[in-house]
Amino acid sequence: MASILSHPAVPLAIGIAAGPRTVPPALTAVACVASILPDADAIAFWLGVPYDSPLGHRGFTHSLCFAALVALGGALLAARLGAPPATVFAVVFIATASHGVLDALTTGGMGVAFYSPFSNARFFLPWRVIAVSPIGVTPFLSARGARVLRSELAWIWAPAALIALAGLALRRLGRAG
Ligand SMILES: [Zn+2]
Repeated sequence: MASILSHPAVPLAIGIAAGPRTVPPALTAVACVASILPDADAIAFWLGVPYDSPLGHRGFTHSLCFAALVALGGALLAARLGAPPATVFAVVFIATASHGVLDALTTGGMGVAFYSPFSNARFFLPWRVIAVSPIGVTPFLSARGARVLRSELAWIWAPAALIALAGLALRRLGRAG
């Protein structure tokens, strides 16, 4: 995984870029939870499910199918989140699916089963730039943890901040024009 601290960068960037009228704060909050949700499979990992099994780490919960299911669940709550169901679906889908994409950019572990449950083939993207995060929290208090956080600042938070700022600027321009 990229660390659970960094996955929410994607929905936060979307929320800021799109603005609260399009993506209300409640939806951004739900999308942040959705961006971390795939790593619930760490529980299976700790219970001894093998990494390469369909229910192992980076298996089904990291797939596009799982992202669609979570997004559907979110869309059912659309009225409570204050946004149209299609918006909720899109934001939650991107937030959840981005988790697997970020994991597929990391330098370690196994690839991501994007097409689970139809195929358990594991994929990485061609550019593996994010230092892989240790599973768990304590390893963060180490030199490796510092390296992971530096890497995530550069490859996740910096681009996310750029997207957020670009969205803000475009909305300002739109209002001025
Ligand atoms: Zn993960």
